[in-house]
Amino acid sequence: MVVVRSDKQRQDSKGFILSEKIMVTKSSLPEFQEYVSEIASIWDNHWLTNFGPKHQEFEKRLVEYLKVPYVSLFTNGHSALECALEALSLKGEVITTPFTFASTTHAIVRKGLKPVFADINPNDFTIDVHSVEDLITENTSAILPVHVYGNMCDVYAIDKIAKKYHLKVIYDAAHAFGVKKDGLSAASYGDVSMISFHATKVFNSIEGGALCFSDSYLKGALDEWKNFGIKNNESIEFVGGNSKMNEFCAAMGLCNLRHVNEEIEKRKKIVQRYRSNLSTIQGLRLCKIQEGVQENYAYMPIIIEDSFGASRDQVISNLNAENIYPRKYFYPLTSDFGCYDNRFNSADTPVAKYISDRILTLPLYAELPLNQVDKICTILIKSGR
Ligand SMILES: *Cc1c(COP(=O)(O)O)cnc(C)c1O
Repeated sequence: MVVVRSDKQRQDSKGFILSEKIMVTKSSLPEFQEYVSEIASIWDNHWLTNFGPKHQEFEKRLVEYLKVPYVSLFTNGHSALECALEALSLKGEVITTPFTFASTTHAIVRKGLKPVFADINPNDFTIDVHSVEDLITENTSAILPVHVYGNMCDVYAIDKIAKKYHLKVIYDAAHAFGVKKDGLSAASYGDVSMISFHATKVFNSIEGGALCFSDSYLKGALDEWKNFGIKNNESIEFVGGNSKMNEFCAAMGLCNLRHVNEEIEKRKKIVQRYRSNLSTIQGLRLCKIQEGVQENYAYMPIIIEDSFGASRDQVISNLNAENIYPRKYFYPLTSDFGCYDNRFNSADTPVAKYISDRILTLPLYAELPLNQVDKICTILIKSGR
């Protein structure tokens, strides 16, 4: 049987082809037939979830690709993060960053822990290691930093602080798939690193995520935690939830993993084009390139300084007028979220506040044509004049 996929172009009522909206990202997909071949065996074995063959193979391939001792797959990165906090039996306070996606802070709060916000550094927007130590109290049990945009935190300094005060370190490495520092995978630092395979990330399994770690005890424990705490039919060890990755997501992960290096290479060309177009523009600031870090080109954030000549919202509205949709990642700070009802004060993290008020993340995905990058830059630069 041959399955045919229709490839319709968007047309208006008179049949004119509409110009595509350029969103901040566009999910990568393998060739249709590649995915169909990958899932065919599921129709033979009827094994849809619960640690099936695709799940097992995907875990194995990730261990090889990421060069980490253990990988445990999850339905998504957020459940993985919550599960890590449970499995490490954390209590009290967790030092973290407010300059991140909702997931990081929500995971801490949802697990009954108290987030304590450190500031970020102004070069790469990762946690400011100097402010971490001052926030440690006798109630602190862990540090939860974020490799934001795939920029690596100062893992050595964080490791030193953690050892000195006997704290656990859980990295939110949701953005850092494929990133390496000094030749080692980003996922190999800390007690546990969480990577997200959400549709919008550099590498996706539709929805999905993983925890990476080197403690063999955690492998068994996490596999139980994500499956109701079940060890075997008669022995239930933890009050766990359900966050197992299914076979269809694992199959998508297996397909996309074959192409991820190529994807990152394509992203690199786009980021280089953005950087060469924008790095000398008065009033625009780009992330500092990190020494010794092999990037994954996950995002293209820029800071629109007050000296630029146009506000961030003005820039956004000029781009929107041309069907281009950048995003304010990350604004507002999680410490300013309405759901937290003024429990936190973002004035305590002035750098994070400054960056969040001026950040704009430009469209970036493997298939974004370079002439569109130039167009985006032209509109952006013109806005400031
Ligand atoms: C995407 C993301 C997550 C959550 O991952 P999901 O797979 O979407 O649950 C967590 N932290 C950060 C920083 C993210 O960007």
